[in-house]
Amino acid sequence: MGRKFVVGGNWKMNGDKKQIDEIVANLKNGPLDSNVEVVVGVPAIYLAYAKSILPDTIGVAAQNCWKVAKGAFTGEISPAMIKDVGAGWVILGHSERRTIFGEKDELVAEKVAHALESGLKVIACIGETLEEREANKTEEVVFRQTKALLPAIGNNWANVVLAYEPVWAIGTGKTATPQQAQDVHASLRKWLAANASADVADSVRIQYGGSVTAANAKELAACPDIDGFLVGGASLKPEFVNIVNATQ
Ligand code: PEP
Repeated sequence: MGRKFVVGGNWKMNGDKKQIDEIVANLKNGPLDSNVEVVVGVPAIYLAYAKSILPDTIGVAAQNCWKVAKGAFTGEISPAMIKDVGAGWVILGHSERRTIFGEKDELVAEKVAHALESGLKVIACIGETLEEREANKTEEVVFRQTKALLPAIGNNWANVVLAYEPVWAIGTGKTATPQQAQDVHASLRKWLAANASADVADSVRIQYGGSVTAANAKELAACPDIDGFLVGGASLKPEFVNIVNATQ
């Protein structure tokens, strides 16, 4: 296996320079487990600032991007621009992009394809709503969302992290139980073995996201198919360090 644990902090549309200074000071103070890859998802306008004060050991991600390199797309940013300011990652398909901004599987896939072609690493988010879970459609939904990504990713899986984020657990304080999360991660891996390759299924890192805190991170991290977290609210707080260190 040998999948390196990877923890992302999604700051969403939060923070200003002062708060970013505090978050970065906390991360520098750590200490952060050196066996864990850490990436912070920064509002676009602060990408360059965050990159300039973060240690190089911490990756920087945009929270969205557009699907072409440049042009008449007012308000958008491209992977080329994200790379130009020194960030190496982008979070795509977050449920807030899907639900609030109406992004469909096809658009998410186009963005993923272009981001990868441009040399960014991608955290690709998938996950079911409460209604879908209650209708026993969790697998159907996450398989459909992942299937849309297959042609976009091609043989570039090494640069992709999947984030399984049940929508009902995001920002709600309702965490999936370790068993619920593990079950979906294991099903995804099985599906990837059948639909991508055994190697992809074995090597791709699957993060869990949804109200992860220092209090629940250790139990979740102990699940065999959970290879990290995508953390929203708690990534703005000092406890993010404890979440990064959850496998210790
Ligand atoms: C997220 O934004 O991806 C997320 C999981 O948020 P929270 O941790 O606040 O639920």
